Amino acid sequence: MVGRLLAWRLASGIEQLDTGIDSKLDTDVISDIDTLNHIALEKGTNSDNGITNNSPINGSTISQISVFEKGQLAPTEKCERAAAFTAAAMISPLSELVASEMDIYQLGLQSLNLWPNWLEEMGIPQHFHPQGSLVLAHPNDLAELQQFKRDLSFKLNEHNASNKQANTHADTHVDSRTAALQVLNERQQLENLEPAISQHFQTGLYLPSEAHIDHNEVLAELILNATRLGVNFTENCALEPDNEALKDYDLIFDCRGTGLKEAGFRGVRGEVIRIECKEVTLKRPIRIMHPRYKLYIVPKPNHQFVIGATEIESEDRSKISLRSSMELMSALYAVNPAFAEARIISQETNLRPAYMNNLPRIDRLQSIHNKPIIRINGLYRHGYLIGPAMIEQAIQQAFL
Ligand SMILES: Cc1cc2nc3c(=O)[nH]c(=O)nc-3n(C[C@H](O)[C@H](O)[C@H](O)COP(=O)(O)OP(=O)(O)OC[C@H]3O[C@@H](n4cnc5c(N)ncnc54)[C@H](O)[C@@H]3O)c2cc1C
Repeated sequence: MVGRLLAWRLASGIEQLDTGIDSKLDTDVISDIDTLNHIALEKGTNSDNGITNNSPINGSTISQISVFEKGQLAPTEKCERAAAFTAAAMISPLSELVASEMDIYQLGLQSLNLWPNWLEEMGIPQHFHPQGSLVLAHPNDLAELQQFKRDLSFKLNEHNASNKQANTHADTHVDSRTAALQVLNERQQLENLEPAISQHFQTGLYLPSEAHIDHNEVLAELILNATRLGVNFTENCALEPDNEALKDYDLIFDCRGTGLKEAGFRGVRGEVIRIECKEVTLKRPIRIMHPRYKLYIVPKPNHQFVIGATEIESEDRSKISLRSSMELMSALYAVNPAFAEARIISQETNLRPAYMNNLPRIDRLQSIHNKPIIRINGLYRHGYLIGPAMIEQAIQQAFL
């Protein structure tokens, strides 16, 4: 995911410079492009499943940006593919905050702002769904929901208190999002949001600021858009940053996900099921509190839904287990019994790329050919949530 998003972002930033700064860009974006332009005039960039711009530009034309992809750009379910294809693609900084660090939350808020702008720029705003998300619990698991709410409120209060102390400009923005956490105490409130939810559920939490995207469509559009902007994609081409083939490039972005093999880095197994069901409509992701898993159902185009996801400390990519399959499907069935007639489209397993502390990293390294490498990895279960913000940071670091 990071590779193709970064390729598009660099190419689109450069194109905007070539054609003059677009008046609808905000000042943040303009300063990024200035930085990019400055460097692009002096040197090229290159990537391993990332970016290349292999000769200097002369004022208005940018040279080649290349992406090398180990697998296929439009992989089938049968071949090993990027974690990005298996994901549910929720952009959910609040829901994830309970079990992650404040940095992830901050990066998530930034990405939540970047995604709609970027998809608009790509001409596909319809693939961003800002309808928020719902968190529910079965009557037997209501204590889990209460705990979730307590943990979330605690972390947000802590965050707001430290922000107020620092009295930063960003405070107002974060405070307004915090206020957006709504407790639904009555069945009618739930029903107003999602009429399809079974009577089984009487209360819940509504997080209106969250979003989700149609990731398969966006991943395909990124290739089309980036190619249109001149990016060159090569599939079935696995490279390491030290590879001889990269020695003439000026800068290498290394975004190999679990292709990175080094101590302290691992893949975390996740299983999902994709179904099709014309009888049920959901507008937003539904998370269901469960003592063992973080279960969710995310609506996708064409009456499809992704049900996920297990999280297992193993690099085993073998097929989904019977137990996981039963847990995921019974969660779905509980949300609406009409799901019983759903058709199973696929059952998938993949690995989330993670460092031991489950936090993302941008590292600056040097290739054996003395070329700078910017490595972006460890996005774990947060690639869509934090990807755009990480890419902005990586571009800043690359061109500083
Ligand atoms: C079940 C599941 C559910 C998820 N749900 C969400 C979610 O709802 N929200 C969210 O934000 N995140 C989610 N994620 C996490 C998200 O998918 C990842 O964080 C994200 O895909 C990481 O992006 P990446 O580009 O680093 O890795 P990937 O998406 O795995 O891409 C890495 C790419 O590098 C290529 N590659 C590897 N080695 C080489 C090489 N040597 N040469 C060239 N290319 C190479 C691979 O083929 C692949 O295309 C989920 C993940 C899983 C598994």
